[in-house]
Amino acid sequence: MFKYLVIATIILAFYVLSAYATTDIIRLLKGSKTPVYAPDCYCDACGNKIRLIDQIPIFAYLFNGGKCHHCKCKIPSFDFYFEIFFLLGLTVTNILLRFSLIGFAATVAEYELAKLIFIIIKGKREDSFAKNLLISLLTNVLVFLLIGALYVMLAIVRAKLG
Ligand SMILES: [Zn+2]
Repeated sequence: MFKYLVIATIILAFYVLSAYATTDIIRLLKGSKTPVYAPDCYCDACGNKIRLIDQIPIFAYLFNGGKCHHCKCKIPSFDFYFEIFFLLGLTVTNILLRFSLIGFAATVAEYELAKLIFIIIKGKREDSFAKNLLISLLTNVLVFLLIGALYVMLAIVRAKLG
């Protein structure tokens, strides 16, 4: 039972990771001016701060009809599909690899590879790219240490309970 609780927590972590990816990766792409480490998100059109409740991945976009709460401008659907891409991609990979430690390695590889591919396709941001990339990679280490701890916990539970 505890095993499934840990697996559910890992999938929940992917959901949070999909939101993190929109700031971590999209801010490295061409046209972005917000620093990777800025805690708040802003609407591209009106510049207003996006409320925390409107940052809930996937659901906030659907609930708001893909529009900014302040100016009713359309939020790029790219952000929406981007979140689904990470949540589904990482979940499917881990179901195939049974949420093993190899699954964790694949999760890190998939995330960083996706970052690289998005940078190649969309182009890198015009100002302070190197600095933002460095900060991005450093925070990734912290994020994946936390997620990695869940996988280690799961491996221990499996070894003990089978
Ligand atoms: Zn707006």
